[in-house]
Amino acid sequence: MSQRTVYLETFGCQMNELDSELVAGQLRALGYRFTPTPEAADVVLFNTCSVRERAEQKVWSRLGELQLRKKVDPGLVVGVLGCMAERDGVDLVRRMPVVDVLVGPGELDKLPGLLDNAVRTRESLISDDEAVASGKAAAKSARQVALQGNTSRRSATLAAAQDSLELLDLSRSVSPIDADDRAGKRSAYVRITRGCNKFCTYCVVPFTRGAEIHRPPEHIVDECKKLADAGVIEITLLGQTVNHYRFEHGAAVSVDGIVQPQKGRAFAGGHRRDPLAGRNVTTFADLLRRIHDEVPSVKRLRFVTSYPRDFGDDVLEVIRAHPRICRYLHVPAQTGSDRMLQLMNRGYSVGEYLEFLDRCRHYLDQPEIGRPLMLSGDFIVGFPTETDEDFDATIDLLRKARYKNSFIFKYSPRPGTIAFDKLADDVPEATKRRRNNLLLAEQTKISDDISKAQIGREFEVLVEGLSRREEKRRKRQIATAPGLVSLTVGGRDAADEAPGDACGSDDHDCGCSTKVHVLSESDAAVQLSARTDSDLIVFVDAPVDRDPQSFVGTLQRVRINTATNLSLHGEMI
Ligand code: SAM
Ligand code: SF4
Repeated sequence: MSQRTVYLETFGCQMNELDSELVAGQLRALGYRFTPTPEAADVVLFNTCSVRERAEQKVWSRLGELQLRKKVDPGLVVGVLGCMAERDGVDLVRRMPVVDVLVGPGELDKLPGLLDNAVRTRESLISDDEAVASGKAAAKSARQVALQGNTSRRSATLAAAQDSLELLDLSRSVSPIDADDRAGKRSAYVRITRGCNKFCTYCVVPFTRGAEIHRPPEHIVDECKKLADAGVIEITLLGQTVNHYRFEHGAAVSVDGIVQPQKGRAFAGGHRRDPLAGRNVTTFADLLRRIHDEVPSVKRLRFVTSYPRDFGDDVLEVIRAHPRICRYLHVPAQTGSDRMLQLMNRGYSVGEYLEFLDRCRHYLDQPEIGRPLMLSGDFIVGFPTETDEDFDATIDLLRKARYKNSFIFKYSPRPGTIAFDKLADDVPEATKRRRNNLLLAEQTKISDDISKAQIGREFEVLVEGLSRREEKRRKRQIATAPGLVSLTVGGRDAADEAPGDACGSDDHDCGCSTKVHVLSESDAAVQLSARTDSDLIVFVDAPVDRDPQSFVGTLQRVRINTATNLSLHGEMI
């Protein structure tokens, strides 16, 4: 068994976070140990994102740092996983010979084998004194292993019927949640579809993650049950166009007794019901209903990201009728200009998008029973040829849609996409920045209004942990006791250090001249961060006579008292 130490850093979306969790589970089962700092690791893995150039730049700079380290540490193994591995392939290794292993999102199940190979190759190279002395060890190993890892999922994983990536999802290791360590672990992601068939002209996802694949409903429900048995109470279903989920049982194929995922053939019937729903086909609405009914200990069922087209009324009816399905939809519009929507190949008009939001509100917006519908959106500003009029139309859409928040991006041309090949990136950077800021300012006003409208309302919230303010306050209190000076450790404020770091000792009575103040329960009310089912963040004080940690991962009823700067503040009732 390997005792190698791994550092794994994840960039990008929830899908990548889930991929990292699955990969980490596999490596742990093989005896790898994980460390939170790259310096302490024998193996450094980056799970990468290519959606925007900035995310890639961060990885290039991390790899640059490792290139320097490898000169003095030839035993180091470096792996690039995910979208950059798929998109850049061997070019990435040519530019950064420090990379030993390259694995695209469609090949992650092969990582353990490739890593083992890379580790052994490194070991044999560093035992070769001549290779080390001549500095050739890094480049030699890198090429050997990268070529094996660089198989592309464009070769259609399902062509041979067996989808080995499904085995990675099925192998998910779920351990029971420790009562003392619940923060963040009561929530989990479950993938229902992979890839995307939409080919929005700006987007790399269909190229890096391949065709849309739908997992068998039994696998999804079983995974939810497994997570629920381990103590998970909130599940978020993941898919790039999550509402397109549809599994045709008549066409199901089994290999070695395992039902295989299917290539997506979404029902393109607008908001009409799928005529085969519930019989030969499991639709997205059926899947939500099944998870809700068959896994009752999951108290909150969420899903992202919804595509604003082909979202049936049947889904909205199921959400309305099932109390544990959350009233929150993330439905990116991208722009408010019909001309831009066409250039982006989004497949809907602004009118159709707004009609869709009206339908959603009609079914799901019920503030009177504490269940308002909240929406969030994505926008791209500065897409090629975007004029001031196009941008004004986007502002107009933002005002009409009234999202609780929006993710706003400046257009980033991505090699390999249709827009990159056909449309010049002709909106100046300064204009992109200005439009980004204007849209953000408009969204901030709306978010603020929405927050204020919640004052006086009561909600059930899931407590997620200490608020960030509370965490900072704890660090400050550790560093500065009343009447004592604040500490500086290694040039940094001691408030940023963990308890005990201040004097370099875990023992606060170690004899050093400065005392570290340890927070006690009686100091003040501790602020917790919680979330409503419609995804609004609420800050709430834990009762002073109770251990604040005991609330983490629990559902509580709160009343909203104030709303400041986009956040809600409430009290437990
Ligand atoms: N599948 C989701 C959908 O269609 O709405 C979105 C997935 S995409 C990975 C996340 C967001 O990144 C998109 O909604 C879009 O706003 C943004 N995005 C994608 N490609 C981009 C690009 N080339 N430049 C800027 N933003 C981009
Ligand atoms: Fe990208 Fe469009 Fe697919 Fe979303 S729907 S992942 S934006 S191609």
